[in-house]
Amino acid sequence: MTGIERLRGIEEGDVAALAARIGSDAVSWPAPSRYLEEPRGKLAGHPASALVRPRNTGEVARILAFCHERRIPVVPYGGGTGLVGGQVMADLPPLVLSLERMRAIRSLSPADGVMVVEAGAVLAEVQAAAAAHDRLFPLSMASEGSCTIGGNLATNAGGVQVLRYGNARALCLGIEAVLADGRIHHGLRSLHKDNTGYDLRDLLIGSEGTLGVITAATLKLHMRPRAHATAFLAVASPSAALDLLHAALAALDERLTAFELISEQSFVFMAEKLPAIRRPFGTAPAWSVLMEAAGSEAGELEERLLGMIEAALAEGQVTDGRLARSERERREFWHFRESIPLANRAVGAIVSHDISLPLGTIPAFLRDAPAQIRRIAPVRINAFGHLGDGNLHYNFFPPEGRDRREYAALAAALSERLYELVTARGGSISAEHGIGRFRARDLARFADPAALAAMRAIKAALDPRGILNPGAVLAG
Ligand code: ZN
Repeated sequence: MTGIERLRGIEEGDVAALAARIGSDAVSWPAPSRYLEEPRGKLAGHPASALVRPRNTGEVARILAFCHERRIPVVPYGGGTGLVGGQVMADLPPLVLSLERMRAIRSLSPADGVMVVEAGAVLAEVQAAAAAHDRLFPLSMASEGSCTIGGNLATNAGGVQVLRYGNARALCLGIEAVLADGRIHHGLRSLHKDNTGYDLRDLLIGSEGTLGVITAATLKLHMRPRAHATAFLAVASPSAALDLLHAALAALDERLTAFELISEQSFVFMAEKLPAIRRPFGTAPAWSVLMEAAGSEAGELEERLLGMIEAALAEGQVTDGRLARSERERREFWHFRESIPLANRAVGAIVSHDISLPLGTIPAFLRDAPAQIRRIAPVRINAFGHLGDGNLHYNFFPPEGRDRREYAALAAALSERLYELVTARGGSISAEHGIGRFRARDLARFADPAALAAMRAIKAALDPRGILNPGAVLAG
């Protein structure tokens, strides 16, 4: 029996009973439409979904206990920016649980290098609170103005500074969470070392709301760098980009915070769809790299970066380049990079992917994969992403002048071919976006069978009635 068969959709009587328990101002039925959408427009939430917006952890606990008892599905909701459909459920009307009213910074200690925040805090607010105390919370991504820290942790989000600081998991020391039956896990510790058995924190981080609802977290702060050095470089090939990455790591070591690879197709889409955004090169290079170093002294950073670039120019790995000469120019470089997904969306992908590969296999993959993929359909491919992490966004678009809907029936076959190529090279079908609903069947097909069996056993143990985000991560 699948999880969904054991559940029932929320009904008017449930909504009334819930409103009586936690206040009618906290409950909306049906849920406003913005809670039933996802950014790629591929899946809409059930129109009879209800929305609840609790004010504190105690209310979250009462809500989950209520839904557990009545077998009502619950979809935990952060900023709604997830790209794999983890935030929308279509098969039954669920209770959408938004933590948007729980956004307090409970405490911040620059001396201890920690802050405790509630899950509904927007990532940009968390970054700003850390900066106000001269510290850095380094998690950073294009959606930071609307994604929430709870969603970031639930999906173990990545972004553009993982190379130096790690992903969301690496930035979290402890969590407070509510389990499926309403029990509260009080794990807001700020210990750097804690080897006391199974780690519930690491289990819930990345579980995409299927094992519990994170309500607050202890986050790790870093020292705020005083200076940045940023370069946009045209490179001879992906292989040259990889050589450059190694040279950058040798020259800058952990001061290297970001190393992004961008294909010519990104420049073409940007010019076509977002022409007002300043492009770093007049002519689109076949491949380019946006890299950044952070440290305490601008002069030293620039000297090391320039030395490395000059050597790469001499050797032909770099063919053209620009160093950001001002904070404004640095922001322009990043604005260009972070707008690529918007241009992609404006063009309209047939299907998008977020893969990771062992670093050394990436040049051969980028050389060989397009021909393999195009045996299925003559798609345009936009490959870009976090080369320093071995993580590429690898998205398929219809040929010029054609509509993506003409190719919709081929999307699954295109993804499957890609995932075969990726897994054959020891890669992953989801590097930082998670599994959600869009990739649950792919996970079932491509995951290690022992790992999948363990995941199902964990799900059954922590959420025996299957109320938490049913259909996400684990299909059927
Ligand atoms: Zn990314």
